[in-house]
Amino acid sequence: MLIILNNLESHYEIEQLTRMFTKDISVVHGTKKECLPADTADFLYVTNEEDVTVELNFNGIKFTESFAADTDTDRMYLDICASAYKMYTKAFGRKLAWGMLTGVRPVRLMRSFYAKYGDIDTVCGILKDRYFVSDEKIKLCRDIFTLQKGIIDSGDEKDYSLYISVPFCPTRCSYCSFVSVGSTGASGLMGEYVDKLCEEIRYTARTAEKAGLKLKTIYIGGGTPTAVSADQLRQIMQTVKENFDLSQVLEYTVEAGRPDCTTREKLQVIKELGADRVSVNPQTFSDEVLRAIGRKHSHQDFVECYNMAREIGFKTINTDLIAGLPLDTVEGFERSLKGCIELGAENITVHTLTLKRASNIVVNREDNYYSDVSGMLEKCSMLADAGYVPYYMYRQKSTLQSLENVGYSQIGHENLYNIYIMEEIQTIISCGAGGVTKVAGPHGELKRIYNYKYPTEYVKDFDTILRRKDEVINVCQQFGFLKG
Ligand code: SF4
Repeated sequence: MLIILNNLESHYEIEQLTRMFTKDISVVHGTKKECLPADTADFLYVTNEEDVTVELNFNGIKFTESFAADTDTDRMYLDICASAYKMYTKAFGRKLAWGMLTGVRPVRLMRSFYAKYGDIDTVCGILKDRYFVSDEKIKLCRDIFTLQKGIIDSGDEKDYSLYISVPFCPTRCSYCSFVSVGSTGASGLMGEYVDKLCEEIRYTARTAEKAGLKLKTIYIGGGTPTAVSADQLRQIMQTVKENFDLSQVLEYTVEAGRPDCTTREKLQVIKELGADRVSVNPQTFSDEVLRAIGRKHSHQDFVECYNMAREIGFKTINTDLIAGLPLDTVEGFERSLKGCIELGAENITVHTLTLKRASNIVVNREDNYYSDVSGMLEKCSMLADAGYVPYYMYRQKSTLQSLENVGYSQIGHENLYNIYIMEEIQTIISCGAGGVTKVAGPHGELKRIYNYKYPTEYVKDFDTILRRKDEVINVCQQFGFLKG
């Protein structure tokens, strides 16, 4: 699809909207339609002259609409996107469940509208009438917003969460776009990495104290934290224990996502050193699908790992599933979901497959190459019947059919860290490669401080990492957290 914009500065919103219908896009600026070759096919033309005109030519059919330009530029782009969205739905013969919403945090958008209008029914009406969001997604958003409201309102601006990144995995899953390094052959790097990580953890404890922040949750993620040895895991968690006051911490989570590297000994280390939650991830209950995505474990390996975690006595176990995996079917996905419910996992997180350039799955296929992903997500109604509630959600660019990822929880087992990180309402201090520290201000400000992305750079230029941590104190000073 060629997008031609005349007398318009930004193409971001229009391009993101178009991308939800087709991946093949190019954008031309400052050209009048009359200047295009006569045989130009499949284009969206938007011009802002006396009026705004939106014209879509697709498969030989032409749609056009003109309206007065709103003096508010944001509103004008919204009007253009609404017009283009209606044309695309006719041309492509399908509506999108999230309508023309392209943002990755719909609940956050709902919260900002709620702050403005003060009435949730009004907000839902805006999402339906102005953004064309389906009733089903509005309900999902509203349920999550309502559940999160009490949690968010009870927070303090000086609260923070600690994120620790262990960016190693036994093998790389074909859909993965995270920074993760294969642990095979990386044992030298892992040892050096863990030493530096512990140094950063110690430095962070002192920095947070100087910045006047109060630790509320801890999350050790990755990669797969259990890809390191039991001794290295102990070293990391012992450092946390010795440098932070765990008695004030509301939750402590460790991802033990891969059954092919999570042993009883590592789970015992996690429990002994204070974590009360783990994630053990099946992704699917089908061995055939597991092979297709490059996971080197079977469904039975997952069940054994889950049962070990249960025996060791974690308060909350999360299980991740992915809808839309190659070779999976709606029935297969339903079996996986039912399996997680029957195991009694307190949290079940349902992701929708995302096709990112950094992953090994072919990115150029259209969404309909993959199985009926919306049919799979419809099966999540089983979760409500089993007593689970949705408690956090996010969308990603390039997710199949622009659908969402949702965390479901048994009441009282919601993972606070997931809410804080997705809604960007609390400071998160990150340690390790790929970590991004986000200092949240009292008026919605968010200051990001980046660590190096890859473990090799992290180890090599570690002094820079510590210097960047000092920035947390400066930002907290600017936000007024250090008063008195
Ligand atoms: S376990 Fe997670 S981080 Fe590791 S390769 Fe697979 S998807 Fe990526």
